[in-house]
Amino acid sequence: MDCIFCKIANKEIPSQVVFENKNILAFKDLNPQAPVHILVIPKNHIPSINEINSKNSSIVAEIFQAINQIVEQENIKESGYRVISNCGEDGCQSVQHLHFHILGGKKLSETLS
Ligand code: C5P
Repeated sequence: MDCIFCKIANKEIPSQVVFENKNILAFKDLNPQAPVHILVIPKNHIPSINEINSKNSSIVAEIFQAINQIVEQENIKESGYRVISNCGEDGCQSVQHLHFHILGGKKLSETLS
């Protein structure tokens, strides 16, 4: 499958990994929108939130546990941060592999849209 995040997960494309376990990889976004901008992905291909179902949803809980560890590691747990998953065209999802952005390290904009 020609999916850039699958290639990053398989280490076919290098990335700046900040967290990894059997099912999850987290790496620095190539085009950071905040001092801390990390992407957290399942290693298995799930295109977006739209494809989360009763068979694969446990990965979402695992991802959020990983996020909890990552924000501690990145020293933004106490100051705060934002977690975003863009979905579909109106959500401006540009990579069709489920991912959660962690943004922090500065006071973020109050607007979400
Ligand atoms: O939510 P969206 O699909 O737009 O986010 C994709 C993100 O993946 C972007 O922030 C982009 O900078 C990042 N990216 C990356 N490394 C790549 C391709 C995309 O960090 N090789």
